[in-house]
Amino acid sequence: MAHRLDEQVAIITGASRGIGRAIAEAYAAEGARLCLIATDMARLQEVQDSLGLPAEQILTLSLNVRDRDACFAAVKQVEQHFGRVDVLVNNAGVYRAKSFLDYTPGDFQDLLDVNLFGVLHFMQAVLPGMQARRHGRIVNMASTAGKWGSRNQSAYNVSKHAVVGITRCVALEASPHNVTVNAICPGFIQTDMVEELKAQVAHSSGMTGEELVKAALSRVPLGRILNPTEIAGLAVFLGSAESSGMTGQSIHVDGGMVMF
Ligand code: NAP
Repeated sequence: MAHRLDEQVAIITGASRGIGRAIAEAYAAEGARLCLIATDMARLQEVQDSLGLPAEQILTLSLNVRDRDACFAAVKQVEQHFGRVDVLVNNAGVYRAKSFLDYTPGDFQDLLDVNLFGVLHFMQAVLPGMQARRHGRIVNMASTAGKWGSRNQSAYNVSKHAVVGITRCVALEASPHNVTVNAICPGFIQTDMVEELKAQVAHSSGMTGEELVKAALSRVPLGRILNPTEIAGLAVFLGSAESSGMTGQSIHVDGGMVMF
């Protein structure tokens, strides 16, 4: 039986847990060959073991996406191992909540180093090969925080607005080469990051975690925190031939929280 990502070679960053792990599971189920990236090798190994793919169909690489040389070396290693990269899922990300007045320039730099520059390094590393082969799909993980303002997380929102912006700009330049670049904007998804958000925002706002969740969900028409698999489905679509007619888009998967 044919699968939606048969024979496709995909790099997924931030694949050791949360949304990235769910994307790795969905991509494996759809027949992709995988390179999984994160900093924590033990967790990556656990994901690799759980997927049960033949050893020649999966690579796990421990690297920090802030490190441009390491990102380029990883892409080179994948191209040597699998012959090419068809799909890049730029999912690795970090979160930190503070009021604007409490954030330091270092906080902004730190979030941009991972959430923007990690995305930029990997796109610049894969695009020459994708463009030469006239085939490629790039999926960047932005956020609803990349589309609107939120209190007490301006540095995170800035980094995710940057992901939406760079997705649009690179989509324009890559289109003539038949490479598409799209972004996903999740709302509240049940992962370690949303637990960090609850703890940090509750601390700064004086609410309990429960009060915070209630307030947050009052803005979500579907009324629940989503599951990582609900993001993985869109990541499969955007990485597959089914999305060949769309580029430069940033799509909300947020229970209806943002409607424009
Ligand atoms: P998570 O559970 O905290 O997982 C983050 C992933 O990124 C982990 O695999 C982590 O692996 C990896 N990572 C973090 N910094 C890295 C670095 N410097 N280099 C390499 N890997 C790094 O987060 P998540 O909720 O799954 O979030 C995934 C993406 O979705 C992020 O871009 C996030 O901003 C976005 N997002 C999440 C939500 C949400 O509600 N959860 C909402 C909107 C957008 P290691 O720890 O092993 O390095």
